[in-house]
Amino acid sequence: MTDGSALVPVSPYGPFIELALTVHELAGNGRFAEAIAAANEFQAIARAFGDEKTVDFLIQGRMFAHQYHGDFAGAMAVGLGLLDRQRAAGNVLGEAKTLADLAQLGVQSNRTAQGILHLARAGLLLETTSRRNERYASALAAYGQAANTAGLYEVAAAAYEQVLAEHAAYASSPGSYLAHRYLELLLTWGFRLDHLGHGLEAGFRLRRAVAVASGWLAEHPGTGPDGAPGPVDTWEIRAVLALARAKLGEAGEATALAAPLVLPLREHRLAGGAWAVHLALGIAHRRLGDHPAARRELLAARDWCGLGGWADDELIVAHELAVLAAQADGGPAARDLLAALDVQNRLLGRQRMQQLTALHHARDREELALERAGTQAALLRDPLTGLGNRRQFDQLMTELDTGAAAGPVSLLILDVDKFKAVNDTYSHTAGDALLRRIGAVLAACCRTGQDVPIRYAGDEFTIFCYADLPAAVEVAERIRAAVAGAEVDGIAPGAPVSVSIGVAARADGMTAAELFQAADANLYRAKRGGRNRVAASAAD
Ligand code: GH3
Ligand code: MG
Repeated sequence: MTDGSALVPVSPYGPFIELALTVHELAGNGRFAEAIAAANEFQAIARAFGDEKTVDFLIQGRMFAHQYHGDFAGAMAVGLGLLDRQRAAGNVLGEAKTLADLAQLGVQSNRTAQGILHLARAGLLLETTSRRNERYASALAAYGQAANTAGLYEVAAAAYEQVLAEHAAYASSPGSYLAHRYLELLLTWGFRLDHLGHGLEAGFRLRRAVAVASGWLAEHPGTGPDGAPGPVDTWEIRAVLALARAKLGEAGEATALAAPLVLPLREHRLAGGAWAVHLALGIAHRRLGDHPAARRELLAARDWCGLGGWADDELIVAHELAVLAAQADGGPAARDLLAALDVQNRLLGRQRMQQLTALHHARDREELALERAGTQAALLRDPLTGLGNRRQFDQLMTELDTGAAAGPVSLLILDVDKFKAVNDTYSHTAGDALLRRIGAVLAACCRTGQDVPIRYAGDEFTIFCYADLPAAVEVAERIRAAVAGAEVDGIAPGAPVSVSIGVAARADGMTAAELFQAADANLYRAKRGGRNRVAASAAD
């Protein structure tokens, strides 16, 4: 089966999307160096035109080029860079998709623990987002694929089933990469369960694969080229169907399905399908007692291992060959070989369970870390206005003194005029509404991520404005004007509502406390000067 990761883009919506599609196509066709060179060149173009979505998509193409080339370390470095970009942009779904791709890379390069950590993060992001668009489906599919590669079959199956149920586009074509992946997962899972001695559960997955594959084939009739059964994009589905039936003991049906597909699949070099039909025929022959034919087919299946993108394809063929040896020979040596394989399989089964547990633990840890980060942020927030609180004020004052804040700093102190009268005349609730309104004005007038508005206490607010005095005065004046005469719930329209603001800029060698005193002195001047005004001075 073809690796379809390239068909699941981060975001196909930038205006320069064609450039990115070209890169993904080159990477998918094995032209790795060209893909990487083109990605670098196109990135400059997309960036020059501000098409950041295409830049992301190009970076992703570069990551896949490294990955398909087997350069997992290179791919991971590119992926981590992409992750940083998506985090900075607040692109949660892009981040989830990249985390899933990184998880896949981790598992492929034997960094399973790291891969599982990425997978846990991706899963948590997908669970907490409320978006259910195409990019969500793309991220969830990548999550399923990484889980499948890690042998976390139940996690992968749940992800694939959700995508197929919620996003018709992914299920609509039997040639769709996800349809292949889902069937492949059910088969691999079934074989692994059978090899562990869990025949009943194995039968359940295999019968599900038969139902899904038959359903898709019924929906996509048609004739194939040169008398081959069905259109080309259904061949691998037919091969999987044959394999599932062979494993379920339906030797006649499996042979009838598989035999006419052998040549077409081999000629088209559809490796996953070729592997599946040879394996199906091998198992069917074995069941019918034709041991030489069974061995021939199983060895042919082994030749296609590692080419079709199936997880554990070698392991599965090796086990089936050992079962054949035990059946054909029946001697103690063959039985010993099978017993040795059993031990190996149980070990792998145990590892799989440990990985599943590791994923659950990693997920819980991630959730706790997120919660803790949220609690940390809440500790610094004023619940009434959502602005920073006194604790954050203290932190920022300390930062000023420790020199963490370089460049110009101005401090604004704002106090509501005659606030007691608002409370007394209207109500405490009306007073609260006014405080909230002022909070909103402050938030709107501050540069996000730079200036920090804070409710200092009661009706007093401060703003850490990282700018010089004229700029800070401009901000103060804008705030004053926005509050003056604002209409607030519970306060009579036209009632005098205003604030007074004191502003000071930090001079060389000034402590944070001195800056505060200077701004406070100016606030006092503003009040004394008649309120509803700004008073400022560059302290000296
Ligand atoms: P001035 O113009 O001189 O500032 O007069 P003022 O009436 O505003 O005087 P002051 O700033 O001293 O008054 C602060 C008042 O704010 C006192 C207190 O009852 C009220 N207050 C403090 N916290 C809250 C709150 O959370 N909600 C409400 N509604 N009122 C509060
Ligand atoms: Mg006041």
